[in-house]
Amino acid sequence: MLQQILSAPLQATGRKQQSDRFFHVSHQAQADCPILTDIQRMKTDITTLAESLKNDVYELCQPRGRMVGSKGHKIAEAWVDRRLGEIGCIPYRGKTFALPYHVDGMDFTNFAGVIPGADRTLPPLLIGAHYDSVIPHPCADDNGAAVAISLAVGEAVARSGGLERDIIVAIFDAEEPPYFMGDAMGSIRFYEDQVDARGIHFALVSDLVGHDVEMPGDNIGAMAANMVSPIKSLTFMTGAESHPNLPAMLEEVEVPSGMKLIATLNEYVGDMSDHAVFRWNDVPYVFLSCGRWQHYHQSTDTPDRLNYRKMAAIAVYAESVCRGAATAELETFI
Ligand SMILES: [Zn+2]
Repeated sequence: MLQQILSAPLQATGRKQQSDRFFHVSHQAQADCPILTDIQRMKTDITTLAESLKNDVYELCQPRGRMVGSKGHKIAEAWVDRRLGEIGCIPYRGKTFALPYHVDGMDFTNFAGVIPGADRTLPPLLIGAHYDSVIPHPCADDNGAAVAISLAVGEAVARSGGLERDIIVAIFDAEEPPYFMGDAMGSIRFYEDQVDARGIHFALVSDLVGHDVEMPGDNIGAMAANMVSPIKSLTFMTGAESHPNLPAMLEEVEVPSGMKLIATLNEYVGDMSDHAVFRWNDVPYVFLSCGRWQHYHQSTDTPDRLNYRKMAAIAVYAESVCRGAATAELETFI
């Protein structure tokens, strides 16, 4: 579990429900370190997770960016490939995490690793995000933050021994313009050409999940910033409407402190990112985003501007959603 990411002795509760896991962690933590209260322990774990996410964002989001075809993109490819191995994935298809594809004479590469589950014949879960950048700049919120969160969830699942079914950690290429919603978009090519015969049970996609939500004109001073701070932790979710059984499953998932969740309908915000192809194909999905902000698609979208504790809370939530979805009845309905 993500609360335990660097606490190996506290694992092996992977298939229990969230409430059981907290119960187990609390008592085990007290046994290991009776001076710490439960809340102190959880705060320490969130801090550790936030540091890990920060490391990933700083490593991936280099000054030259990750535009398709660029040297920075090549460096990012090698980094994603290495990290998928480090978190405990095995290749989804073939012998490598890299899933190259070619459109209109251009080379692109998706990456997909798997944390094997108890029954590998079942359709897998997928957690994914795009890694390319729109401009030759760090683009930390767009989309290094979501890549880091996807890797962290995969790592937590691996440390707990896996779920009831496989989970694919999918790091997509070419989400940004001019590829957005076109034939070269990585998530579209992944779903149409690279998904195996098991299909996808449920997909969790995130984009723009590293920043605080701010009111327009929020830079009018510290007092005003404090007054609007309650909205900083907002995170938006769409997709609960993608399967009749999803709302009840999501109701059971605890939202961690440090994150305020607003559920809305995808039709209100549009197909902003890589969840689109799953929605089009009736795959149950959840899309998480903190929306656009003043640094969206700007050179100022840099790692130092992200809120890593908020990202840690989103990662904990995303892991819990995946655990819930792993056992949920989400067969395609008619
Ligand atoms: Zn973008």
